[in-house]
Amino acid sequence: MKLNYRVVQSLQQLVYNYTNYHTMDEISDWIQQMEKDHPDVVSRMVYGTTYEKRNITLLKIGLNNTMPKKAIWMDCGIHAREWISPAFCQHFVKEILGSYKTDGKMRKMFKNLDFYITPVLNMDGYVYSWKDNSVSFDSIQDYSMTKSVNLPQQSIVMHPLVGISRNCCSDIYSGERALSEPEAKAVTDFLSANRNNILCFLTIHSHGQLILVPYGYPDIIPPNYDELVVGLAAAKAIKDVHGMDYTVETPPNVLYANSGSSRDFARLIGIPFSFTFELRDKGQHGFTLPEAQIQPTCEEAYQGALSIITYVHDKTFASAAYTETATLVLGLNGVITGKILCMECLMRI
Ligand SMILES: [Zn+2]
Repeated sequence: MKLNYRVVQSLQQLVYNYTNYHTMDEISDWIQQMEKDHPDVVSRMVYGTTYEKRNITLLKIGLNNTMPKKAIWMDCGIHAREWISPAFCQHFVKEILGSYKTDGKMRKMFKNLDFYITPVLNMDGYVYSWKDNSVSFDSIQDYSMTKSVNLPQQSIVMHPLVGISRNCCSDIYSGERALSEPEAKAVTDFLSANRNNILCFLTIHSHGQLILVPYGYPDIIPPNYDELVVGLAAAKAIKDVHGMDYTVETPPNVLYANSGSSRDFARLIGIPFSFTFELRDKGQHGFTLPEAQIQPTCEEAYQGALSIITYVHDKTFASAAYTETATLVLGLNGVITGKILCMECLMRI
């Protein structure tokens, strides 16, 4: 008996397993399926092409609204070996689409916000990381770069100052010049064109269990730094799920100084809230996080991201105070010291 193709596709979608890692082809099919399954709130948008001419696609998610909307940006899979990152973006999309009809708060956010979510940004690298089926999962090498360029360090701002290498064999090779890679250019072009509407920029990586705030450049903190520690509330929300500890810090204080990151670029062009999530773990499995940890990792990170997005939404669209954050701000003051420079000063560095 031949099954109708559409029925087969629907069945496949029903059984899409969010607790497995998926190939690029599977994720691309899933992206299409999301649009088909939720045509009232989901649309695909191609905003660039990769070095190997793949379409860089995001999912725009939100309700149509005659009133002006703001936006949330989330990208995953900029480093190809960090497979938990695309898994998280898919989980995030599943959760918000599963809740907006019944959860009044999410529905309100769907009315006020558009979510721009890129499940896999570095598609070429991701494909490469899956290519050799004989390679065991535990021995995936660092296929994190397109043409071996560290894409997150490609922004034009502060490029290249610290935390990068001019050696093309290095993991932190910054490329020939700022925005030499099409993936980095696609993101910065999109962010620049929509800078007045995007409230929050989230870029998802692994590993380290960190929420990184601007800036990667040492001794500089953004004018709204105190508010950026809304990340602390996110860390608490994460811990409440499975007890995992996430540290909220600037990169120089917890990792190393770097420059030219998309997180810093977003903040510098005026997107007020900008964070890098480094998901599980703290090094035991590193980039090869077992599939058994996909679900708990995504469940806790979802609550963390939701905490930030809810704060950003409420700050913009509601007068309700987010009292918990105010308390947490007091908790972090004094931990990080740094010279506060105005944005104009920073842009001249
Ligand atoms: Zn990364």
